[in-house]
Amino acid sequence: MLTKKASFFAAEWTDTKLKVGHVVLFVAVVCFSLIAISTWGVFNSLEYHLRDKETEMSSLSKTLSSNIEATITQADTVLLGVKERLESEGSDAEILKRLDGLLKAQQKRLPQIHGFSIYDEQGRRLLNSNDKIPAGANNSDRDYFIYHRDHADLGPYLGPSILSRSTNEWIMPVSRRVNHPDGSFAGVAIATIYLNYFLSLYDGVDMGKNGLINLVGSSGNIVVRKPFRDLDVGTNISKGQIFALLKPDVSSGTATIRSFIDNVERVISFRRINGYPLVVIAAFDKNEILSDWRRESFASLIISSILLAILGFIGYRLVRLMSQQLQAQRELQASQKKYIEANKVLGLMALEDGLTGLANRRQFDFFIEAEIARIKRRLDGTALIMIDVDLFKSYNDHYGHVQGDECLKAVGSIIKKHANRIGDLAARYGGEEFAIVLPNTDYVGAFLLAEKIRLDLEQNKIQHNESPLGVVTISIGISALSGAEVDTLESLVGTADKALYIAKSSGRNRTVISD
Ligand code: GH3
Ligand code: MG
Ligand code: MG
Repeated sequence: MLTKKASFFAAEWTDTKLKVGHVVLFVAVVCFSLIAISTWGVFNSLEYHLRDKETEMSSLSKTLSSNIEATITQADTVLLGVKERLESEGSDAEILKRLDGLLKAQQKRLPQIHGFSIYDEQGRRLLNSNDKIPAGANNSDRDYFIYHRDHADLGPYLGPSILSRSTNEWIMPVSRRVNHPDGSFAGVAIATIYLNYFLSLYDGVDMGKNGLINLVGSSGNIVVRKPFRDLDVGTNISKGQIFALLKPDVSSGTATIRSFIDNVERVISFRRINGYPLVVIAAFDKNEILSDWRRESFASLIISSILLAILGFIGYRLVRLMSQQLQAQRELQASQKKYIEANKVLGLMALEDGLTGLANRRQFDFFIEAEIARIKRRLDGTALIMIDVDLFKSYNDHYGHVQGDECLKAVGSIIKKHANRIGDLAARYGGEEFAIVLPNTDYVGAFLLAEKIRLDLEQNKIQHNESPLGVVTISIGISALSGAEVDTLESLVGTADKALYIAKSSGRNRTVISD
């Protein structure tokens, strides 16, 4: 029963231990997943932010390139008409006057136009739609004039941005060569476009603190840049990484590039302008994208951390609770064990008769078994004295049970007094019966001891009115057997019992030795 209980406890203990392990594992897995998901989310969001900005820059450069294309084409279309008129009708005063009216009307219509001019083959200004021809104005030193004079190419030419001599504003010239009927150089028709107009196209576009929009010629010279600084105009950026990406067959692209000018890393999108040797570049500071991302990630990390802390706390409490339960179970089991052991010890200790202090029946049995084994080995005799109080039932009836106990105590102490040799064992055999085992003793020795006890009790004169002698007496049976005769406890006790019976039946208060 006890072992069953113990194994039940052990099973339950291992079970709880297992459960604690499962909870720890579960909490760890959930925490780890949460960390993994948050980390993945944070890096995914970085990727998303960068891609999103790239897409935004790409669509911005697309819109800008078509606006810029339209702006230039409108000016060039007018130039093409002027060139046709000049080549077919010549450039006399009448023609120039008509053209002047026409160009003024076009200038009013087109807000990007700073002005239209016509130069002859010497570079002298024949016409200026702004009516501000200073006397003797000659632009033969301008880049566009030299280009057309030296190149037969009939397409439009985009000159580098210049500061207008007449109005002191930044402008971009678009020009076409005018030929004489024989194909020789006859002059230049030119439209100038406000750089400010380009900048106005970029208005309302939020490029952050460090973002920029750049319109660059195919040779790498900056035409106009937002934010605008005079010193940037004409700066050559062909050494930069963007130009390395701008292969002849590439018309657009996106990249993340560190600027060699201000060392800022930017997400950029570039796109060629259809029909013109220009590239528009929209660039956004990567750090500003990252700071947006950091702000978002910080918030999500805070939430994840709070969740993690709550989860960790709950897990910790749960594991602690389970550990406490486990500890309680362990303690319970330990005390159960102790209890079982104590019970065993108690069982072993209970060899003494509570009333008389003599050995009890159990010790007697142990002892006599051992004694029999010993006799069997050594083949020498042992004696057993069985003592029974005479007429004790009537003593009890007369004096009461408590008095009866006192009487048994007195008998017991007399027995103890006499059976004091080392190796002797005096026991309360049961009720008012006593037994003394006397190792290495023959019947004479046993008889002498028995008589000593009997007479001592008699002389004690414990009053017993119901007995014919008036005092408490005992009857004694002795068996004294050699090792060869003894085979079991029962036979030894049985023999002594028989002698005791004879003592009783032949008048009590006497000792009888078995024959
Ligand atoms: P006999 O001379 O034939 O032995 O007569 P007896 O009355 O002693 O006979 P019996 O053995 O039948 O009676 C024993 C009595 O001892 C019965 C019981 O009441 C009493 N007794 C047994 N154990 C105890 C005990 O521990 N204390 C007390 N007070 N009485 C006991
Ligand atoms: Mg009896
Ligand atoms: Mg008796």
